[in-house]
Amino acid sequence: MTTAMTETASTDVTSELTSLDRCDSCGAQAYVRATMPAGGVLLFCAHHASKHREKLTGLGAQWHDETAKLHAANDRSI
Ligand SMILES: [Zn+2]
Repeated sequence: MTTAMTETASTDVTSELTSLDRCDSCGAQAYVRATMPAGGVLLFCAHHASKHREKLTGLGAQWHDETAKLHAANDRSI
C-alpha cells in the first residue's frame, strides 16, 4: 500500500471562486475574495465588493476580483 502526498491548499488565494462561495454580507454568490494580511478571508458579491473595497484594500487586503464574469454574462442583455 502506497501513500501519496496529495494534500492541497484549499485556501490558495489564486483559486477561482465557485457558486458555493457566498457573500459574507448578503449571501449572494461571491465574485470577490479579499484576503487580509492576517490571513482572514472575506467573500463578497459584486455589490458589497464595491462597497467595501476601498476600506479593505486600504487595510492591505489582497483583492481577487472575478466580477468580469458577471459583466460577461450580462453583455447579451445590453
Ligand atoms: Zn453581498
